[in-house]
Amino acid sequence: MYLSKFRLYSQAYHEYIHLFFGLVSFFISLGLTGSHQIFFLFALSLFFTFFPDLDHLFFVFIYGRGTKYSQDIRHLLGLRQLTNCLHYCRSNHKNNQFILSHNLFSFGLSFLIALSAHLSHHDFILASALAVFFHFLFDIIEDYLFLGRLNPNWLLQFSKKSL
Ligand SMILES: [Zn+2]
Repeated sequence: MYLSKFRLYSQAYHEYIHLFFGLVSFFISLGLTGSHQIFFLFALSLFFTFFPDLDHLFFVFIYGRGTKYSQDIRHLLGLRQLTNCLHYCRSNHKNNQFILSHNLFSFGLSFLIALSAHLSHHDFILASALAVFFHFLFDIIEDYLFLGRLNPNWLLQFSKKSL
């Protein structure tokens, strides 16, 4: 009951939740470093909170372009049906087990970069790495919410089968 409600919210507000975590990264890095470059820190946090999902575009247009999933998306884009296309992506992207950047190695790396940026007081790197770290963290939580387990691509088990 609660789970299905969470799923609905998560699906409907996916991008906004990423945006929220971008703001969280901004405030944490501002608080930790006391940076005076507030605007640039803000811009970096917002950019990097969405940055890992650029890989979905690489998948659709380059390394996964032969899958039915990618063809459907490009077909809808070709027809300029942006709303339908977004809806299609929202309902199907969780089945994609071939997004190369979304793996536990990059997740751990983003954490280590954030940690070392914190220790060496690098405000820009901290904000960027934190935003990437929270992006992956939310995607992982969403996997458990939707699939009840980690999507195998996190464990470097990539597969185009379900697409
Ligand atoms: Zn993602």
